[in-house]
Amino acid sequence: MKIEKNKVVLLDFELTDGDGIVLENTETSGELPYIHGLGNLLPVLEKSLEGKEVGQNIEVRVSKEDGYGEYDEENVFYISKDNFEQLDDIYEGLEFNAQTEDGPLLCTIKSIEDDQVLIDANHPYAGKTLNFKFKILSIRDATEEELEHGHVHMDIPF
Ligand SMILES: [Zn+2]
Repeated sequence: MKIEKNKVVLLDFELTDGDGIVLENTETSGELPYIHGLGNLLPVLEKSLEGKEVGQNIEVRVSKEDGYGEYDEENVFYISKDNFEQLDDIYEGLEFNAQTEDGPLLCTIKSIEDDQVLIDANHPYAGKTLNFKFKILSIRDATEEELEHGHVHMDIPF
């Protein structure tokens, strides 16, 4: 079976930045499942994985342009601590999804100063060159329900 649209793919992966520092890998984050062709992964990654088979190893270097863009200082700003009332605990480094007109946006708390919280709305990988190493572990057809939901159901075996 080859990777094509609407296949569920399970990957062993390692992600390093331009300096070779490991940002994430299977040990830290677990094996990576995704549905091919739904935009779950960066387009440049899906393009590299297209047509590949179980057991193949793939390396992809993703430029800032193809990845998460430049780091923008204007995306760092203060908001009132009141916005976090629903959370039990907030702390430096906490990542959370802010609801925006364009959907959820991953943000990071940079610092907390009295009743103000300094937010970084840049993607954590903005401004970085990303090197992905993948090994394809499994491929199967997505179920109708998975395609409706747009995500992998891990209880369905490969
Ligand atoms: Zn679901």
